[in-house]
Amino acid sequence: MNTYSRLPVSFVKGEGVWLWDSQGERYLDALSGVAVCGLGHSHPRLAEAICRQAKTLIHTSNIYIIERQEQLAKRLAELSGMEKVFFSNSGAEANEAAIKLARLYGHNKGITLPTIIVMEQSFHGRTMATLTATGNRKVQAGFEPLLTGFVRVPYNNLEAVKQVAENNKNVVAVLVEPFQGEGGVNIPQARYLKELRELCDAYNWLLMLDEVQSGIGRSGKWFAFQHSDIMPDVMTLAKGLGSGVPIGACLAKGIATKVLKPGNHASTFGGNPLVCAAALETLAVLEEDGLIEHAHQLGIAMRDQLHSELDGVNGVVDIRGQGLLIGIELSVPCTDLVVKALDQKLLINVTSEKVVRLLPALVMRQDEGKQVVEITCRLIKEFLNNRLN
Ligand SMILES: *Cc1c(COP(=O)(O)O)cnc(C)c1O
Repeated sequence: MNTYSRLPVSFVKGEGVWLWDSQGERYLDALSGVAVCGLGHSHPRLAEAICRQAKTLIHTSNIYIIERQEQLAKRLAELSGMEKVFFSNSGAEANEAAIKLARLYGHNKGITLPTIIVMEQSFHGRTMATLTATGNRKVQAGFEPLLTGFVRVPYNNLEAVKQVAENNKNVVAVLVEPFQGEGGVNIPQARYLKELRELCDAYNWLLMLDEVQSGIGRSGKWFAFQHSDIMPDVMTLAKGLGSGVPIGACLAKGIATKVLKPGNHASTFGGNPLVCAAALETLAVLEEDGLIEHAHQLGIAMRDQLHSELDGVNGVVDIRGQGLLIGIELSVPCTDLVVKALDQKLLINVTSEKVVRLLPALVMRQDEGKQVVEITCRLIKEFLNNRLN
């Protein structure tokens, strides 16, 4: 269906941070399939793990014990400090699981109209519940009636959450991205999560973190919440988890592990042997090759270089990010930059109309990162020069 306005290029091969189109032209990829291909394209170890698993066993059913799934759940628990995992096939589905978990948690407490606090500019997916939770009218328009049971507050605003706490006795959870990706690469104040945690504790709400984009090393830590000194009750993952193989996960800790019972939720494909093998290998490569720390360092180097090239340039509003989630906000809409970059054989993204977003693979080398920033800055300067002068 006509659901995408596609760029006029088709890639046929990939290796590391490089892609080749059907004409044999090579492109430098600073988007990674929108934060998915953390290991770069067709990583040999990932390809090998997928082949090996495919030749052994691809799918059974969650009716049976799935060893690979248990191994993956255990590994995710070790890395995050969470305790239980539900596997889905996408980020939206991981968030659906979280939303259902929160609602059931409320009903179990006798709250018959459970309400979840969500944020402005948030993005949680395109299913009915997750687009309702999403703080972007464009995502919702035309799909009304939306769901009830959500209340929206500005991001990075603790006072607004406190006001809801005083006025709404139906709240059962807060659903929030530790760093907003689609909403414009927004990084909240350092104590934001910590104070949200304290509010959740005071009111017995679940703190549910959508780490679909920020998780699996993207932020320079395994999970973005690890930049703060807190633990969530629920965390959702997808994008980078399978390095391109569709897999999502909803993780729970403490009281949140006790909510969903057999029959409450399910997925036919969720966590099958094939996708779990891919995710296990992704985690193994990220760890053994030191790619999380590398993402942290490369992110600093790229932002430093962006600052030295763009600070003081008329029309550059802000340069921000954490790890390899990097945003450059301009004063004017700049979606045209995506096509201009494509002409220069560079893949970048613009989100929230004015924010150039870079999401390089965690395997990107320093010299490749430098190249990304050089081309991006040249394009931004040319663009602003034409637009503002
Ligand atoms: C991409 C994204 C989603 C949706 O994931 P899908 O796999 O496309 O359903 C949800 N939350 C966040 C923060 C995302 O970036």
